[in-house]
Amino acid sequence: MKTTTNKEQLWIDISSRLQDVFGDHAYRGWLRFLEFEQDTGAKIILSVPTAFIRDLIKSKYLDGIKSLWQDVCKDIQAIDIIVKEKDQNQDKEEDQTTQPASKFGSKVSLETLPGNTDGLDPRFTFDNFVVGKPNELAYAAALRVAEYEKVNFSPLFLYGGVGLGKTHLMHAIAWQLHNMPKKRRVIYLSAEQFMDYYIRSLRHKTMIDFRDMFRNVDVLMVDDIQFMSGKDSTQEEFFHTFNALIDQKKQIILSADKSPSDLTGIQERMRSRFGWGLVVDIHPTTYELRLGILQAKAERIDIDIPNDVIEFLAHKITSNVRELEGALNKIRARAMLIGGPITLEATREALKDLLRANERLLTVDEIQRQVAEHFNTRISDMKSSKRLRSVARPRQVAMYMCKNFTSKSWAAIGEEFGGRDHSTVMHACKKIEELKISDPDLNEDIHILERILSA
Ligand code: ADP
Ligand code: MG
Repeated sequence: MKTTTNKEQLWIDISSRLQDVFGDHAYRGWLRFLEFEQDTGAKIILSVPTAFIRDLIKSKYLDGIKSLWQDVCKDIQAIDIIVKEKDQNQDKEEDQTTQPASKFGSKVSLETLPGNTDGLDPRFTFDNFVVGKPNELAYAAALRVAEYEKVNFSPLFLYGGVGLGKTHLMHAIAWQLHNMPKKRRVIYLSAEQFMDYYIRSLRHKTMIDFRDMFRNVDVLMVDDIQFMSGKDSTQEEFFHTFNALIDQKKQIILSADKSPSDLTGIQERMRSRFGWGLVVDIHPTTYELRLGILQAKAERIDIDIPNDVIEFLAHKITSNVRELEGALNKIRARAMLIGGPITLEATREALKDLLRANERLLTVDEIQRQVAEHFNTRISDMKSSKRLRSVARPRQVAMYMCKNFTSKSWAAIGEEFGGRDHSTVMHACKKIEELKISDPDLNEDIHILERILSA
């Protein structure tokens, strides 16, 4: 029998925030494997199933995780991550569609390579996808690809704003293919993960295995390809993977937040190839679609919400589907905790913050614009790699403002500042917090900007 320690309780809370803080891909790819192991006083020990995941988390997310801990428990000095192998996974080995990773052999522990269905969200199926005008084309194209009779258009390129269902559709395709009698080799991963594997393979001199795996699949899906922007050697490698698969008439599915031609920082030869197959965009939601999604989701999580509340939400929460889901979850949590009927009044109260955020509709663009104007710099500098203090400081202020005025994660904010890492954003926020105390001028700047932005 194991008893739950205090710190373990804290971990339950912290781990439930990882997805929000670091973004979907980091969470699905690596962070969700973290488990609480031990509390040695000043040091917390967490575990993951493989050395690969451990190294990756240590190099990219450890500081962030540590700072989440320190937010709730000041006396934590260090976090360590150990490898704790799981041995119940043997039965999966037989299913070769889901285990392209075994190709890597035992030389390197890359056994968590994509292709395994446990990287897929079980809720992201075609059945759970509500179709409306803004997404009907994307839906139809995804369904067609998932039938996989023969490859009609490759690549399928899906693009659209955040939270509109791109990842949902890609997972739905992967599930569908997985459930078909004829097994296909399917790999789904984010562009960020592709880069991580690529770098790891370079370092461990396993490029042959890497290529062997990525160039021998039936379906390759790479999510959020805009992440490759500015990452030239990753693009180079992906270019060859892409060509090899297209030559063999295999199916490629890509997603991005912009159309191929708008993908700055991606080589021209790639952008033009992205348009070779079928390019479809998912438009922002309409009132009708939001209504449909709310009804479907309320039914699925089994709560009875009166029509006027549903209509109110569809009307007010217009940014994206993820926020609609967040609203429903909040309403449900409130009903469960406090009880009482779900009324318009109770909804307004429960969703105060969310509604305010949607009303103000502050975008990262707008924040960057206001901050740039205030400091007399250019918006392009916000996204540039310049490190001059006169550019870097306003950039840090803008990041800090984004954290406070939008609901975006560190990772998502970093993306909008020229593809910077979540840790850069985190560092910026810390730095500005410090400067607010030590530098009265900057503190004044911050106050002025806060006033402008909340006007
Ligand atoms: P994106 O990848 O485009 O940023 P996601 O696919 O992650 O967006 O979608 C965000 C959330 O909204 C997910 O929980 C997803 O299930 C949900 N969602 C988006 N579009 C729909 C839809 N048409 N029907 C049902 N759920 C949707
Ligand atoms: Mg996505």
